[in-house]
Amino acid sequence: MRGSMPEKNRRINVLFAAAEAEPFIKVGGLGDVAGALPIAIQKSATHAIDIRLVIPFHAAIKEKQLPIEFLGSFAINSVAGTSECLVYSITNEGLTVYLLDSEAINHKSPVYHANPVEDGRKYAFFSIACVELVKFLDWKVDIFHSNDWHTAVAIYALATNYKDDPFFHNTAKIISVHNMPFNGYGAQPALTELGIAPSNDSNLPEWAKLTPLPLGLVAADKIIAVSEGYAKEILTPEFGCGLDEFLITRSERIIGIVNGIDTQIWDPATDPYLVQNYSRNNLGAKANNKAELQKTYGLEINQGIPLLTLISRMDNQKGIDIALRGLNRVINEDWQAIILGTGNPQIEKMAIDLAKMYPDRIKTITKFDPALSHQLYAGADIFLMPSRYEPCGISQMISMRYGTIPVARATGGLEDTITHYRGNTDEATGFLFKHKYPSAFANGLLRALNTYKNKPIWIKLQQNGMDKDFSWQHSANAYVEVYKSLLK
Ligand code: ADP
Repeated sequence: MRGSMPEKNRRINVLFAAAEAEPFIKVGGLGDVAGALPIAIQKSATHAIDIRLVIPFHAAIKEKQLPIEFLGSFAINSVAGTSECLVYSITNEGLTVYLLDSEAINHKSPVYHANPVEDGRKYAFFSIACVELVKFLDWKVDIFHSNDWHTAVAIYALATNYKDDPFFHNTAKIISVHNMPFNGYGAQPALTELGIAPSNDSNLPEWAKLTPLPLGLVAADKIIAVSEGYAKEILTPEFGCGLDEFLITRSERIIGIVNGIDTQIWDPATDPYLVQNYSRNNLGAKANNKAELQKTYGLEINQGIPLLTLISRMDNQKGIDIALRGLNRVINEDWQAIILGTGNPQIEKMAIDLAKMYPDRIKTITKFDPALSHQLYAGADIFLMPSRYEPCGISQMISMRYGTIPVARATGGLEDTITHYRGNTDEATGFLFKHKYPSAFANGLLRALNTYKNKPIWIKLQQNGMDKDFSWQHSANAYVEVYKSLLK
């Protein structure tokens, strides 16, 4: 018992460590999660939580000249000597955020290095700095929450180098897995420099014994995948990235909690980028957004033709090639498409070439354009998401919130968040297809196109999607339950 508060009601202290977080820095989906989730957890009405975020003080954050406060410094020890780590803090929506700065964290570098050895060094040192931070703050944390490989070494160090440190005796260790294929291989020299010994877990493959993500998985009391579907998939050879057999030995510690979306930024009723706002009871107004897109992009202005959209990073993961080939197979059907995405030049070229073949029906825009993305979510009828794998995915949740029906591959978070229409409209919100082939995509799309012709059913699917609770609060409550279950 601490004080007079019953143990199960006492405040829980959590350090949430990540490589990036909105609004300070965002490179990928992790930035969305680390920006929103801790704030939602702090606001959770189900338990008192003192959660604080820590990220590196990246060069790109420094450029923003934010009103930061300098708290002091501590030493990070390695065989090469001692390096100083400076601690700054700032508040974001009531959340305390620590920014750690040190030569060892290589603060002048980009958020992610192309060179895996340098990236490994940056995040190995950052991980140890996160552990030292709580000692510097003299703040006993109940939960140390790592995210992906970048901060995985922190919890491994807690389980090894800091094992006998009484300061951490009550600290439970969590790792959230946002993307298994990125494991931090290349960090080995830095880990050795920091005195981190390889794991002796015989279930780990040799390559993994001194690799950040697997080390975090070894040490974690709880492994949280970003959807229930992904939690199951990582136990299979197809998605486990060589760690599936090891993960099976840990399966009792693995759970899935689906991410959320920012329901204020993504709200068709108030979205400032739209020519016309609308809501579930006023879906007719969505048509003006479609007409505007048809006009802007030189497509036939006709509400009867379903407008498809695809908004994505152009990356092999996203299966855009599957959709492009699949579209060719249903070219005799009536539809128009607007594709927005940047990334892999080969995939971009494929999308540009398809638009050149059918210039009055398909438009491809290869840039990163958030305003246009809002307009496409609002104006399109059907959202295409043919991902080869998708740990969670947020685009499909956004599209459903905008009454735009997803046609998506049945994988990971897509399968968890989209309810496939099988002829019963009670819960259905979209269309899922199983195999990662153009023919399977084409069949899924055909089902959607046929259903589109039946307006009452279509509207019901739209409303079902718009009624779903994709807010971060929903996810946050699930995280709080995990924190409570781990209290020592
Ligand atoms: P991932 O994080 O793997 O890229 P998600 O579906 O989780 O995939 O999130 C992608 C986010 O990026 C969505 O909000 C989507 O709208 C946005 N996005 C992707 N490509 C573009 C683009 N070219 N322009 C604007 N927004 C984009």
